[in-house]
Amino acid sequence: ISSKLPEVGTTIFTVMSQLSSKHNALNLSQGFPNFEANPKLIDLVSKAMHTGYNQYAPMPGLMSLREIIVQKTNTLYGSNYHPESEVTVTAGATQAIFTIISAFINPGDEVLIFKPAYDCYEPSIQLFGGTVVPVQLSAPNFTVDWKEVASKITSKTKMVIINTPHNPSGSILSKQDMLQLEKLLKGTNIILLSDEVYEHIIFDGQKHQSAALFPGLAERAFITASFGKTFHTTGWKMGYCLAPADLMAEFRKVHQFNVFSCSHPMQYALAEYLKTPENYLSLPQFYQEKRDLFLSLLKDSRFIVTPASGTYFQLLGYSAITQESDIAFAERLTIEHKIASIPVSVFNLDQQDDKVLRFCFAKTEDTLKQAADILCGI
Ligand code: PMP
Ligand code: GLN
Repeated sequence: ISSKLPEVGTTIFTVMSQLSSKHNALNLSQGFPNFEANPKLIDLVSKAMHTGYNQYAPMPGLMSLREIIVQKTNTLYGSNYHPESEVTVTAGATQAIFTIISAFINPGDEVLIFKPAYDCYEPSIQLFGGTVVPVQLSAPNFTVDWKEVASKITSKTKMVIINTPHNPSGSILSKQDMLQLEKLLKGTNIILLSDEVYEHIIFDGQKHQSAALFPGLAERAFITASFGKTFHTTGWKMGYCLAPADLMAEFRKVHQFNVFSCSHPMQYALAEYLKTPENYLSLPQFYQEKRDLFLSLLKDSRFIVTPASGTYFQLLGYSAITQESDIAFAERLTIEHKIASIPVSVFNLDQQDDKVLRFCFAKTEDTLKQAADILCGI
């Protein structure tokens, strides 16, 4: 058969989670919490199911959910998205990202992405004939050279994809970064896809620089968000995206045929749960405590640490331990030491190997202690 994606294998998250369970290892590879969501949220789903939210939701999403999303975005970023035409509820951020790319990318269009990049962007671009134009960022700081970005923007550039806080590095874009990007995109027709699934997981008192805060970005941006990340429910596959009405109209032309609408009872529950801002405003402290615990337990290890600024991922450098490739080392750690992580080179341009592994710290204290015990012995 002729494959549309001949180079694409199975995603690293599935590969490492399978290897982890095969070898009975602690799984700090794929990013998901190993603790439960708030029982109040679960009760709301049950309530929704018992009160009749069991048929199709409206195509763009339940209005009460869209309204509360708009209210949250207004409070946090001062923007005024219209619930009728500028918010769509999606089956996780993944479906939003795929739908955005499919709605706009034509053969020959260039899409600029920053590497290491979350793994769903590139195959989606390739599937629609787009050309990936990568800008490589490197450990330990993953800072953007905006001159390089400027040099890679051409008349064929259709879209730029950013991700802040950034998976896998845990770095964030600063206000200066966003202003630079705004300047570069001014006067162009370039669409911005701003993947902000970790908007609420940011540390050390830093402020999330949403594209919604910058008028020159917001006017051309799709912003994607994930309730899986925010409410510890990655298995629900619920999220949403925001965009100006003209862009969103094109998005919905595709959305109505690739999923039509998303889980109705979940939407009811999420709308109710979002009425209490503390449910998401508590996340920086909640996850910072986990990051800090993990790092304090690792202080006598031989791993090299640059603390994550956001996300629930921590990179650990291992060049003081071995010169093995990160893929080989991640496999050996899983099989011999019973701890699974993600090798970062799989997200890099030409598999650049900075000798860093990504560990997910969305785990119970007990799991983090077990993980640190193993890592300190290496
Ligand atoms: N973007 C990034 C950067 C991610 O880390 C993830 C993983 N959760 C997603 C998008 C996809 O989110 P969802 O699980 O809501 O589809
Ligand atoms: N976003 C999660 C991660 O980075 C994984 C999502 C997935 O498995 N597709 O680990």
